[in-house]
Amino acid sequence: MSNEKRINEILRRLPAVDQVLKWPEIRDILEKHPRKLVLSAIRESLDARRKSILEMLDAPESGIDAKSILSDILNRLERLSRFTLVPVVNATGIIVHTNLGRSLLAEEALARLQIISSSYSNLEYDLSKGQRGSRYVHAEDILCELTGAEAALVVNNNAGAVLLVLNTLARGKEVIVSRGQLVEIGGAFRIPDVMERSGARLRDVGCTNRTHLRDYEEAINENTALLMKVHNSNYMIVGFTKEVPLPDLVDLAHRHNLLAVEDLGSGSFIDLSQYGLRKEPTAQEAIKSGVDVVTFSGDKLLGGPQAGIILGKKDLIARFKKNPLTRALRIDKLTLAALEATLRLYRDPDTALDRIPTLKMITAPMEELTVRAERLKNLLREVASGEFDFEVENNFSQVGGGALPGQNIPTRVVAITSKKYNASRIEKTLRSFDPPIIGRIEHDTYLLDVRTMNDKDFETVKRAFLRLVS
Ligand SMILES: *Cc1c(COP(=O)(O)O)cnc(C)c1O
Repeated sequence: MSNEKRINEILRRLPAVDQVLKWPEIRDILEKHPRKLVLSAIRESLDARRKSILEMLDAPESGIDAKSILSDILNRLERLSRFTLVPVVNATGIIVHTNLGRSLLAEEALARLQIISSSYSNLEYDLSKGQRGSRYVHAEDILCELTGAEAALVVNNNAGAVLLVLNTLARGKEVIVSRGQLVEIGGAFRIPDVMERSGARLRDVGCTNRTHLRDYEEAINENTALLMKVHNSNYMIVGFTKEVPLPDLVDLAHRHNLLAVEDLGSGSFIDLSQYGLRKEPTAQEAIKSGVDVVTFSGDKLLGGPQAGIILGKKDLIARFKKNPLTRALRIDKLTLAALEATLRLYRDPDTALDRIPTLKMITAPMEELTVRAERLKNLLREVASGEFDFEVENNFSQVGGGALPGQNIPTRVVAITSKKYNASRIEKTLRSFDPPIIGRIEHDTYLLDVRTMNDKDFETVKRAFLRLVS
């Protein structure tokens, strides 16, 4: 038999989609999965078979029996019906991890999400007047109460907030910024690019490491709209440096009848220097300095949902609300629900520190981390001490999310080594577990930082190692 004939004969033995659909096992599957998905899995599977037969792989007839086709279809179906957005275990010790979803919500915020999303609400309805209202009122009062701001507006995220502020106040005009503050934030958000899109012209002054008040002053001209300070949240300039303090910048702007705007980036409400961290400016301090507008994220140090919070003078906030861009950047009701619940926790700082996961993780005391690291170590030794070595070690966590760069927070990690698996093999295996476990490697040792892990995560890691050794 010629090769071609042999291949054609094998291809003929391959079942058709219609035939496969009649298999009893497939009929069972159709009860549980959408028909369209099952069809895709069958087609993909048969196509792959056909292709490998045509390519005349070593044994073209292998794997065309019903049993192996069925198991291939099931595998493909499992892959097709998987969620793409899934929970992961963050064992990196980076608390506001930009790639792993930034902040976790407080239980109070989750409860509020449930209530507001499963019911109609007064999202845009004024209950006292019985007529159309504004969604922007819902977080405004509490933001003013907590920060001392005259007025507030919340949009989709902080990049949107910066865009809206500059578009409203400086379109076609100049914005003076220090060269040391022209930052790029992960995901290709560059302050200069956003400025350009807002229609404002960037006028950078000073040098990378030093900018003086006179640098701003000399750049002021009849086209200047505002002076802007950008918090260099994700990097540090060390050594011979100078930055103009916000109050001085505000004073200079106001002496020239200009506005002063600060992009605070992370935007904390609590001074974390009480917990041994470096001083980060709080939103309250920015307002106190007299700045006209300040913007920051809802899901960085604040520990709430993704949002862009704008605080400022009443007349300016009113202008932002009227800008058509606001509609394009508008905040969703779920975000508002979670944000209001998060903000309420800040009425008592101790409650905020206890209930908001981001703050709780940042301020977790060493004694607690030690106890938890020992527990994780013992759990893992129980199941995998034969092939792995687990030790508790000192290391450092990071706040992340563009807050407190270079700030190392002492922590305890479980360091994992093995004669059988190297660190990158351990990393890859844990990363492909369900749910995925994301740790980090340092000096060829795989590390799990307990600061960003909870008890459920411990159980997940234990199951992963149980699977690894079995
Ligand atoms: C993070 C950050 C932003 C962007 O905030 P998003 O909420 O991610 O849009 C803008 N400016 C600074 C200084 C930041 O740190």
